[in-house]
Amino acid sequence: MSVNFLISQAKNIQIVIDENAAEIEALDQNIGDGDHIFNVQRGLKLVVELEDDIKNLPLQKGLNMIAMKVLSGIGGSSGALFGTFFMSMAKTPDLDKDIDFKKACEMVITGINAMKERGKADIGEKTMMDVLIPVSEKLNELKSSNTDMKEGLSEITKIAEDRMLATKDMLATKGRASFLGERAKGHIDPGARSSQLIIDTICKSLINK
Ligand code: ADP
Ligand code: MG
Repeated sequence: MSVNFLISQAKNIQIVIDENAAEIEALDQNIGDGDHIFNVQRGLKLVVELEDDIKNLPLQKGLNMIAMKVLSGIGGSSGALFGTFFMSMAKTPDLDKDIDFKKACEMVITGINAMKERGKADIGEKTMMDVLIPVSEKLNELKSSNTDMKEGLSEITKIAEDRMLATKDMLATKGRASFLGERAKGHIDPGARSSQLIIDTICKSLINK
């Protein structure tokens, strides 16, 4: 992982999020306030625009600049949560050394743990954490197993999709959707869908490398 890797992933993700924008917007209109797609698109744009400023920086500095940009530039729960993700990834030890698969897993796990602490949402509360926590658990398993990396990434895309779909029948107990009670049932959580698309895009780009 390098700053250039992060920027190129953000560009890939932009394309996929734009392709699915109408669906994500509708999901947040159903159980939120409709701005989730705008927050995600703005966040990605801000990260991509940082390219010239950060492309030659060491990973830790680049991650911190991305975190600051996301925290100050995106509103909503997602701004705070994704900002926290990048900020904590930057705190993973030994980022100045070569980042292998194991270290990359550690970084993502650290970032997701911090999001969990920040938002205080666990599995089953109908948020993006329903996708992210199981992905983090799988990464934790993969980093110390002999599973082929591509096979592991393909399992992760499956977990993310299953968990995103599973938010449909949940009651929401965190975030705006929690005010809806039973009416939140029958709708997939918008943050779960955007997170799943992001994970799917990154995993597939690594699988096809
Ligand atoms: P807001 O809810 O402030 O309008 P967004 O629309 O950008 O922010 O994001 C909504 C998404 O944020 C939800 O679909 C859900 O996945 C996620 N979310 C809301 N509250 C929390 C929380 N406490 N922890 C984790 N994720 C949350
Ligand atoms: Mg919203």
